[in-house]
Amino acid sequence: MAINIKRPNGTEDVLPKDVYKWHTVEKITRDTAESFGFSELRFPTFENTDLFLRSVGETTDVVQKEMYTVKAKETEFTLRPEGTAGAIRAMLQNGLLNEALPQKIFYIISCFRHERPQAGRLREFHQFGLEMAGSPAPTADAEVICLAKNILDRLGLKNIELHINSIGCPTCRAKYHEALKAFFEPHKDELCDTCKERLVKNPMRLLDCKSPEDREIAKDAPVILDYLCEECSEHFAKLKKYLDNAGIAYTVDPKIVRGLDYYTKTVFEFITTEIGAQGTVCGGGRYDGLIEQLGGQHTPALGFGMGIERLLLVMDKQNCDYLSPKKCDIYFASMGDAALEKAMELTRGLREYGYCAEYDLMGRGIKAQMKYANKIGAVYTVVLGDNELADGKAKLKEMESGKETEILLNDKFTSNFENEYFNKVLDVMDAEGSPMFAFTGEDK
Ligand code: ATP
Ligand code: MG
Repeated sequence: MAINIKRPNGTEDVLPKDVYKWHTVEKITRDTAESFGFSELRFPTFENTDLFLRSVGETTDVVQKEMYTVKAKETEFTLRPEGTAGAIRAMLQNGLLNEALPQKIFYIISCFRHERPQAGRLREFHQFGLEMAGSPAPTADAEVICLAKNILDRLGLKNIELHINSIGCPTCRAKYHEALKAFFEPHKDELCDTCKERLVKNPMRLLDCKSPEDREIAKDAPVILDYLCEECSEHFAKLKKYLDNAGIAYTVDPKIVRGLDYYTKTVFEFITTEIGAQGTVCGGGRYDGLIEQLGGQHTPALGFGMGIERLLLVMDKQNCDYLSPKKCDIYFASMGDAALEKAMELTRGLREYGYCAEYDLMGRGIKAQMKYANKIGAVYTVVLGDNELADGKAKLKEMESGKETEILLNDKFTSNFENEYFNKVLDVMDAEGSPMFAFTGEDK
C-alpha cells in the first residue's frame, strides 16, 4: 500500500534551501529587540484553555472559531493562537513582574488558528512578538512602535504604512458602547448571527466583523476617538507627538479595533497593500487591564506580534536582501582508505575553527565526489590520493574560478589558509596545538 500522507492544510514546510530567509528574519528581529533592551522568553506551545478564554476574550473570532483545543486524558489544552496570553502567564508565574520594571521580553513562536487557509493566512504560522510590562506612559507606546518600525526598516521593507488608533479605557468605552448599541440596534435583523450576539455582549467587536454586509452597515458607525476621556485623549496626543519627533509617519485610523479583547488605549497595525488581502504584517497595542484580569497586580503593559510568513512574502515581493545561506567551505575528495581517513582528520580540524568541511560519505569514485562538491556549492575542494599522502602536498581548487593552489598536508605544520573569499587566516591546530594544514603560497 502506498503511503500518501500529506502535511495538514494550512501548514508549511520550510526546505533547507529556503531556511536562510527565516534565519534572516529571526536574526534581525532578535538583534533589534536586544538593542532596545528586550530579552527572549520561551514558553509552552499549549496552555490551559481558560487562559485564552480569559485573555483573548470569549466573543472574539479567535476564541469562537479558531482555537485548536485538544483533550489529553482528562485535561483540556489549547494550542496557543497568539503569544501575549502565554507570555504574560509565564511572567506572572515566574515572578518577573516583581522585578525591575518595565519588564521587556520578546519571543519567536508558532501559533495555531483554525482559519481558512490562503496566501498569508495559515493554520500554523509564526510570530515574532514582544511585550513590555509596567509602564503606563505614552513613551512606552512610542518605544514599542519605533522598535517595530526599526525591524521593518532593517529587513529592508518599503511602503509599509503605520495605522494607529486609541480604543480608550473602560471609562470611555462604556459611553462608546452605548453609542454603538444605539447605532446598530435599528439594523439588528440584518447583522450576521455572531454580530447579533456581539451587539449584546461586546458591541465594539461588530467593527471587526469580516462579513461585507456587516461592514457596509458599520461604515457610518460612531468612532471611538470622539468618546475618549481626557486622560486617554492626552495619552494619544503624546504618542502622536513622539512619533512625529521620531520621524515616523502614521495614519490615524479609527476603524482599527484589533481582533483580541484585551486591548486598551493605543492600538496599531503595519499594513502593506503588496501581498493581497492579508496585508497586516504587524499588529499590537496596549492592554492595561490584562495582567490584573489574569490574577496579577494592576500592571499596564503593551506589545505586538509580527507574522513571519507575511514578512517573508513582502520581502520576496520587494526583492529584499537576505543573509547569505551557509555553504560548504571546503570538500575533501579522496581515493582509497588512507586518503579518506586523512580527509576525516582534516575536516575535524577545520570544523573546530568554525568552517563547514565535508568529505565522501557514500563510497563514491572521485568523479562522482567532485560532482557532488559542485552540487552542494563547495567553495574549495581538495583531492587526496596516494600521491598526495606520500608528498604531503595537495591542490586546493577554488571551484568558481577553477584556480588551483598547492597546500601542505602535514599535520605538524601551521596553516595559513588565506583566501579572498573568507578574507581571513585559518589556523587549524591538532589536539596538541600543532598546526595541521599548511598553505605553501605557490600559485599553480
Ligand atoms: P488578521 O486581521 O490578518 O486576521 P489578526 O488581527 O488576527 O490578523 P493578530 O492576532 O494581531 O492578527 O496577530 C499578529 C500578526 O500575526 C498579524 O498581524 C499577522 O501578521 C499574523 N497572523 C495572524 N493570523 C495569521 C494567520 N492565520 N496566518 C499567518 N499570519 C497570521
Ligand atoms: Mg485574524
